[in-house]
Amino acid sequence: MNILILGGGGREHALAWAIRQNPKCDRLIVAPGNAGIAGVAECADLDVLSRAEVLEFAQENAIDFVIVGPEAPLAAGVSDALRNAGFLVFGPSQAAAQLEASKTFTKEICDACAAPTAAWARFTDAAAARDYVTAQGAPIVVKADGLAAGKGVTVAETVEQAHAAIDDIFDGAFGDMSVVIEEFMDGEEASFFILSDGTDCLAIGTAQDHKRVGDGDTGPNTGGMGAYSPAPVLTQAIQDQVMDRIVRPTIAEMARRGTPFQGVLYAGLMIAEGQARLVEYNVRFGDPECQVLMMRLGGQVLDLLLACAEGRLADTPVTWADDHALTVVMAAQGYPGAYTKGTAIRGLQDLPETSFQMTFHAGTDTKDGTVIATGGRVLACTGRGATLAEAHQRAYALVDAIDWPQGFCRRDIGWRAL
Ligand code: ATP
Repeated sequence: MNILILGGGGREHALAWAIRQNPKCDRLIVAPGNAGIAGVAECADLDVLSRAEVLEFAQENAIDFVIVGPEAPLAAGVSDALRNAGFLVFGPSQAAAQLEASKTFTKEICDACAAPTAAWARFTDAAAARDYVTAQGAPIVVKADGLAAGKGVTVAETVEQAHAAIDDIFDGAFGDMSVVIEEFMDGEEASFFILSDGTDCLAIGTAQDHKRVGDGDTGPNTGGMGAYSPAPVLTQAIQDQVMDRIVRPTIAEMARRGTPFQGVLYAGLMIAEGQARLVEYNVRFGDPECQVLMMRLGGQVLDLLLACAEGRLADTPVTWADDHALTVVMAAQGYPGAYTKGTAIRGLQDLPETSFQMTFHAGTDTKDGTVIATGGRVLACTGRGATLAEAHQRAYALVDAIDWPQGFCRRDIGWRAL
């Protein structure tokens, strides 16, 4: 079959790498792709936010299956346009993508199905929001209600910090927004990935990531500096609890509202004293969590995504090896602040590319035959092994073989589980 993946990051490289291993995959195109993806698929220069452009491309190239990687095309309704034209698509409708795009929407769904989450209130007025925070006290969490690329959330340790965050949001730091104020939840965070075809659900793995830029989880937040799977804190008992109390009720509520959710539901969870509560939903794979999940799932992921898109999840099993995967993100110096682009990365061609060691590309391009860095997060060096320690050793062996003086990474990915 001819498959089109939308996106061009490490997540899409990992998806393409895994899908390429499935004999059902004939032609594989990734738009826009990157220098690493070009090694496993054709890259096409497409504006993935343009419904018309994506639709025309899919028609012209006889595409049988479209997989939407990032949230932006989902929020822009690209999956709806393709589905309405008769294409088989993996990824939720614009209406169902609200589970990520709107924090208020998700909180209302949780309330409707009694899913455990932090107590919350929404404000469209700064003074009322400030008064509420003063009454509640700190710590407390202030969120801009909309997609703010991970920068719209303040976990405030004092009332003053919370007030400042509220003022920022209403001063227009993120455009025209309302604010959601949440109870602070203490505990250990982990991510849980579930496929849903709108009715049935299938758990496809757990992961934990490292958001802070520096060793010891210090410094500013990033898109993610590394991840590992499975997440020890998400025991089978807690996964069962999350499926029963949070995930299945959410899927049922979405169907009841006439906006069934089809795609991957990425549940961000806070776990304390054996109880899990929902922090947030995302409606696509996480990056870099996708890299460790794909490393563990391999080629079967195409069968899983197809079963999801075709509504056959009830009869679809996942085959697990008793393995672990860990990925280390290499970023351009300066990230997540200003960073230089265009520096050369050497040594990539000599790295092993196996089911135990893969270097996934995020922000890369090729110039005069040399791979250059074009983004903040640039490579995800990924290892798989029988133990987390083995996966860790294999991932860092890749890091250490790469010659890129202008790049850096954290040296302690996985410390909590190791
Ligand atoms: P954006 O939409 O701006 O990209 P986001 O969707 O990543 O942001 P959240 O996941 O809701 O935002 O919050 C980001 C982080 O803030 C969480 O991963 C968690 O560490 C922390 N956080 C969010 N809500 C709470 C809460 N109620 N209690 C404690 N910590 C929280």
